[in-house]
Amino acid sequence: MSTCIDIGGFKISPDHYIDGGRVASAASFELHSPIDQSFLGQVSEGFPEHVDAAVTAAGEAFPAWAGMGPVQRGIVLNRFAEEIGKRAEAFCLAESTDAGVLLSRMKHGVVPRAMLNISWFAEQALRLQDHTIETDQATHLVRHDPAGVAAVITPWNAPLMLATWKLGPALAAGNTVVLKSPEWAPLTSSLLADAAHAAQMPAGVFNLVHGAGITTGARLVADPRLARISFTGSVPTARAIAKQAAEHLVPCSLELGGKSAFIVLDDADLEHAAATAALMYRNAGQVCLAGTRLLVHARVYDRFVALMRGYVEKLVVGDPRLSQTEVGPIIHMRQVDRICGYVERAVASGAEPLWGGRRHPAGPQYYEPTLLAGVAQDSEIVQNEVFGPVLTVQAFSNDGEAVELANGTDYGLGGVCYGETGRATGVAKAVRTGFIWVNSFGIRDLAAPFGGIKRSGIGREGGSWSFEFFCDVKDVVLPKTPFRASFSSR
Ligand code: NAD
Repeated sequence: MSTCIDIGGFKISPDHYIDGGRVASAASFELHSPIDQSFLGQVSEGFPEHVDAAVTAAGEAFPAWAGMGPVQRGIVLNRFAEEIGKRAEAFCLAESTDAGVLLSRMKHGVVPRAMLNISWFAEQALRLQDHTIETDQATHLVRHDPAGVAAVITPWNAPLMLATWKLGPALAAGNTVVLKSPEWAPLTSSLLADAAHAAQMPAGVFNLVHGAGITTGARLVADPRLARISFTGSVPTARAIAKQAAEHLVPCSLELGGKSAFIVLDDADLEHAAATAALMYRNAGQVCLAGTRLLVHARVYDRFVALMRGYVEKLVVGDPRLSQTEVGPIIHMRQVDRICGYVERAVASGAEPLWGGRRHPAGPQYYEPTLLAGVAQDSEIVQNEVFGPVLTVQAFSNDGEAVELANGTDYGLGGVCYGETGRATGVAKAVRTGFIWVNSFGIRDLAAPFGGIKRSGIGREGGSWSFEFFCDVKDVVLPKTPFRASFSSR
């Protein structure tokens, strides 16, 4: 066992969790906080033997867990959700410290949602085998059988939310799981292992390996024993995973980046639209579904920008653990450099920062909320995901042009459209994307589909879509009249 990482008095294991127990590595990597770059501790590095042992444990645990049935699994999973709740304070502080997520958001949004991600899918799984199709000839029992061992790979920007969003349906349906934590923010994944252990989840049902993507993650997705790979992260990693999955024809779900449009029509409630647009700086813009391209009708452009400026000027940038903070740090210096590079190149090619455009004095890993005008549709700042507090703004003169600009990138994850409801709904329908909010932002429900099109991903998560992914669908056919074998029958 390695030395625990102390986060505000909470001791968090830096080790893997395999077959119901903690496993340390001979080597480890350093973990630093984005808040002040302080050293948090050493985390066990996942070597091939750890990945292999985790997949073996998950494979061995699968038959019993799958055979347990949804009621018994539900009892364990509800205990798991309760154990997450009992550790709420530790989860909040851990993710605020290693990922820089606002503590208030962890408390009021993420942790309650993480619990629901587990208990809601456990409840839904009770009805998983209800589906039948009646024809004159037969009754078709459409079964949703668990697929086997699922690899779950998550990014650093929302590790707890995304791990539980995948673990809930995977485990409830009867799969066993190997979770690979994000190397820049592994602490809440480790706390999940404690919660699973305390919930008496059978050994091997949930396993955790820490480590770098290109070594530990790559080894995991190359394992031929996997039945599913559920990934959330960037496009380049998704390409590598999809190539690997193709080797063994393993179905994979890919939730990727975005460059979503935030459209403001000239009949929008500008005050509301401007207040919502300022929310795009939440989590320092490190949010896949943020509407990072503001598209504003020319007639209301100046008024909208002035209103939005009023909201942005009031945003408090700083330590995410403080209650007044609204914009926290950037996860890593590498990301800070990336953001700086994007903004510098945009400005060099003619973009004008209407606000921001530089690092924030709160510390080396803070960046000012930024809005860039004078950007060309084909420029990299409009086309690429920055994943920082950097938005662009462009004007349009009619709805068709707004739709054309909105659709003019390779991404298609989310979107926002403000305007008279009927007209805004029409525009929203024409935008090619996985989901889009009309006169609102961020409303999500576990039952609703979530996912992107084009480079934003393959597949949908949420409700029945999660179960379709994590299950093998099978048709058990029961004839209604005695079947007589004949070469003309089919
Ligand atoms: P990333 O792709 O670099 O890493 C994501 C995870 O994949 C990490 O755990 C990493 O260790 C692992 N990984 C890296 N290389 C791997 C490989 N070759 N094989 C297996 N695993 C590997 O992404 P990131 O920088 O951690 O996260 C930011 C990205 O995630 C952004 O593009 C963001 O838009 C996206 N994201 C998408 C959603 C969504 O739901 N669509 C949600 C959150 C974040």
